[in-house]
Amino acid sequence: MSVPADLLALDARDPLSYKREEFALPDDLIYLDGNSLGAMPKAVAQRLQHVLDEEWGRQLIRSWTGEADWMSLPDRVAAKIARLVGAKPSEVAVGDSTSINTFKALAAALHQTPRKVVLTDADNFPTDLYMAQGLNALLGGQLELRRVPSDQIAAHLTPDVGVLLLTEVDYRTGRKLDMRGLTAAAHAQGILTVWDLAHSAGAFAVDLNGCEADFAIGCGYKYLNGGPGAPAFLYVAERCHAAAPVFLSGWMGHADPFEMGREYAPAAGARRYVVGTPTVLSLSALDTALDVFADVDMEVLRQKSLSLTDTFIRLMQPLTQKHPLTLATPEAHAERGSQVSYHHPDAKNIMNKLIARGIVGDFRTPDILRFGFTPLYHSHADVWRAAEGIAEVLA
Ligand SMILES: *Cc1c(COP(=O)(O)O)cnc(C)c1O
Repeated sequence: MSVPADLLALDARDPLSYKREEFALPDDLIYLDGNSLGAMPKAVAQRLQHVLDEEWGRQLIRSWTGEADWMSLPDRVAAKIARLVGAKPSEVAVGDSTSINTFKALAAALHQTPRKVVLTDADNFPTDLYMAQGLNALLGGQLELRRVPSDQIAAHLTPDVGVLLLTEVDYRTGRKLDMRGLTAAAHAQGILTVWDLAHSAGAFAVDLNGCEADFAIGCGYKYLNGGPGAPAFLYVAERCHAAAPVFLSGWMGHADPFEMGREYAPAAGARRYVVGTPTVLSLSALDTALDVFADVDMEVLRQKSLSLTDTFIRLMQPLTQKHPLTLATPEAHAERGSQVSYHHPDAKNIMNKLIARGIVGDFRTPDILRFGFTPLYHSHADVWRAAEGIAEVLA
């Protein structure tokens, strides 16, 4: 069997097909896990070599303020991410992990409201729940973390809720929530929003300003391809800056770090949420990785993503008749991120077999087979080969 002609035709007119060349991906692999660790843009290797040889190796300490300008690196990376998430550069801070930025966002949001209830999705990603639990311990247990199923969030936006903490795209099912509608509904009740964009940023156009989101956090190593443990980002809407305190008030978020003043004074804009010395090596990798998006129209990217996931769902459909395999991802485009997941009682074992064949997705507890699609480096032919491989493993 070879790739069907209709899929080859789709690939032939794919406006993003030239992007595949920009990634270092082994040819014998169908890599469907860019939602967990993005593939490496080739230019990152050259950039890091330059940082090592020249910026660190030769220029040493002079690189903080010299040509390399490491001091402004977080801000330059923030500007690139801001474009992808529909924010102003001054509303984005880059550094630390998504977990730590969740803490910063939640702490700042809770400080803007007298209400003590944090409403979240019962199936939210563990770290979002854990960080809320830790913050609650710090605050002496005065918070209530209210967890409800994601389809009941809207009904639970009651006037006692202070902060709505949600992940836009569920990491297991790939269900995409209505960020615009839920944010508006939350605001109507005086509730602030914290959106986790771990599976959104770089996967499709996000419009934080257009949705009037208050706070958001996101991940650098998933669809942004910044490399393992890449710095994360924090978004704070401009209108919240004045009232949102900086609790992790480190010197790199100070208005003038080298003044070495005795009192903390926040830098302008979201730079105040940068805490300590920027992680130059990983920031440099992320900085160059983001250049892959520079000439990409995110609407075109989204259309291709939907075409890939539609194709996958269609090709997998016959398998759901023959095997105990059920689609976990919504079929409606508005409710789908850039991944497709299935329930299968033997999911863990099946995924191990797929990975052994070079079809790399992942397993998520309890029974989820997860396949991430990255429009920058997948073709419809890849989707077909993946579905063929899955059929063989299931048989
Ligand atoms: C991947 C992911 C994170 C990752 O947090 P880290 O601090 O980078 O480990 C956070 N939230 C969600 C929803 C994720 O999917």
